[in-house]
Amino acid sequence: MPIRFYNTLTRKKEVFQPIKEGEVGMYTCGPTVYDYAHIGNFRTFIFEDLLKRYLLHRGYKVYHIMNITDIDDKTIKRSREENTPLGQMTDKFTGHFMDDSNWLKIIPANEYPRATDSIPKMIEMIQLLLEKKYAYTDNDGSIYFNIQSYPDYGQLTNLDLNAQRTTNRIASDEYTKDDPQDFALWKGWKEEDGDVAWDAPWGKGRPGWHIECSAMSNQYLGDHFDIHCGGVDNIFPHHENEIAQSKCATDQPFANHWLHSEHLLVEGGKMSKSLGNFYQIKDLVDLGYSPENIRYQLLSGHYRTRITFSADKKHEGDRVVNRIFDLKSRLIELGAYSAAESQLPAVYNEFINKLDDDLDSPGALSLFFQWMRTQNSKFDKGIYNDRDIGESWEFLCVLESIFGIVKIDSDHIPNEVIHLAEQREEARKEENWEKADKIRDEVQSKGWIIEDLVTGYKIKKT
Ligand code: AMP
Ligand code: ZN
Repeated sequence: MPIRFYNTLTRKKEVFQPIKEGEVGMYTCGPTVYDYAHIGNFRTFIFEDLLKRYLLHRGYKVYHIMNITDIDDKTIKRSREENTPLGQMTDKFTGHFMDDSNWLKIIPANEYPRATDSIPKMIEMIQLLLEKKYAYTDNDGSIYFNIQSYPDYGQLTNLDLNAQRTTNRIASDEYTKDDPQDFALWKGWKEEDGDVAWDAPWGKGRPGWHIECSAMSNQYLGDHFDIHCGGVDNIFPHHENEIAQSKCATDQPFANHWLHSEHLLVEGGKMSKSLGNFYQIKDLVDLGYSPENIRYQLLSGHYRTRITFSADKKHEGDRVVNRIFDLKSRLIELGAYSAAESQLPAVYNEFINKLDDDLDSPGALSLFFQWMRTQNSKFDKGIYNDRDIGESWEFLCVLESIFGIVKIDSDHIPNEVIHLAEQREEARKEENWEKADKIRDEVQSKGWIIEDLVTGYKIKKT
């Protein structure tokens, strides 16, 4: 069955057809680095990680760009409040974001462009929009996009502009869809911006948030690419505005598939600092969560349904993750590292059919758990053969490469070998093949083999 994703733009499930056979260009809106990212943000980032891991598993080459929003209303406000230079504050939170993502086993993007490094591209796009009369200058040196000049404005959000009041303009980056307005592409310099300003042909100022993603996606993925993602709160105004800016500037179709993940609620309600239910990753580490438990909790709900994160579910998450790990340990004891059989069980096809259907992660996981129960019962009763061991091992490896919920078996593989494998992975990323081969030989001399997978690697006994 072909892969089908729900496209927010057309409001239906569509067969996924990349522009270039076998390759996927994917842009995901990254964090606004004015604070630590919270577990809600990571619901979206882990959904995007699942999407990317799945496309990799299905054999696509994925080129993934995630931007870092290091200039917008929120970052400027926080740097003023803290009396810290903007760059210093955004560097600090970008670093924390990278550490948290890494801990959560999120596969790194190919590039993480920072908005402040792409200002010339933004100026170039705004210039085009001015020339083509989609934008106009305000008397404070700001530039606005005229939403009436683009008849398709509102398509993503399903807005009828004729039924709305549209005469106003809005300087702020965020507003509601009940009041769509001309939005700022460029904000003329104001006293409170301090030294945060860039020179443009029309005067000093800074970009609006929406033009940032239009410019960075264009810089790295071109005028027309495959997938654009974010959380549902990004649909309006951010993505609606991105479409308007990009299509009007380039006259090209922009992104084909728009995927949005629903919000994460915390203990039944909205996350809020005052309610004490506002989890950042460091809070969850303190509470004893493993990355696999968090990933399981977030991926066991479908990305288009709201889910609730609750500390009460920690125990259940640990139980599930431990059960998977117990199967892994059992298979290692039964000699899985040197198993000759490497087929996948029949249920694998059904598992893939679930994920092909708009990433039905709960459906796929439920099939996996049913199958795991059957396998465990065979092992309990001692009625298994080499094929059961080989198939179980292969399916576990697939589960890990798509979901990232299988704990590392550092008890079984010597630390030294794990460390060497990590070093080899680094060398491969840097395309230092000579070093990578040398490390592989060293690992082999210790009795282990590193096997490369599309998403990472696995270590086997020779
Ligand atoms: P921000 O750092 O605010 O730019 O948000 C980063 C990403 O997190 C965006 O894609 C948002 O849509 C997403 N996001 C924010 N809050 C939540 C939430 N409670 N649940 C899921 N995604 C969220
Ligand atoms: Zn964005």
